[in-house]
Amino acid sequence: MEDPPQHNNDGQTDSPTRLDEGPHSTVRSDVDNAIAKALNRVLRARLGDEVFTSRPAEEIPPPAETLRLALMATQASQELMRGCALRLRGEATPWEEIFPLLGVALHPDQDPAEAAYQWVSSGQTHGVLWTCNSCQRPIRDFGPAGNPTQREAGHADSCQRHRRETTGDRAGT
Ligand SMILES: [Zn+2]
Repeated sequence: MEDPPQHNNDGQTDSPTRLDEGPHSTVRSDVDNAIAKALNRVLRARLGDEVFTSRPAEEIPPPAETLRLALMATQASQELMRGCALRLRGEATPWEEIFPLLGVALHPDQDPAEAAYQWVSSGQTHGVLWTCNSCQRPIRDFGPAGNPTQREAGHADSCQRHRRETTGDRAGT
């Protein structure tokens, strides 16, 4: 006597292992709510309660306010990212090594180093500023393209880092 082969997908009511949106979306919305509450708390502490609605800080804010909070947090995060990238430049990290840390899109005709610089500089043509950890001078960085002796202005004549970079890029000179 043989049992008929068992098919688990003949009905959906008795298959608790089936992936459905229930538990997943609950977890997802728990995370979303936790993020929204954290943003509400952090941004209120930073900007002051008057920027927000009168809703208590521990409540989950409604979607429109969460969007506003998320936008402010995005802008604050991007400022933080730019600051960290500039500090890395001060530590002699090349633009191409900063690129994968930024998560920015790469256009087909763009190289990663240039994409990183463009994002950090927000398209400004007059370069970005950071402090060189080697010579302690404020440096104006015009990005990875162009002549290596001219793309970073402000290093001390004796700066070891600048000497290393300019001679390293143009082997033999
Ligand atoms: Zn220097």
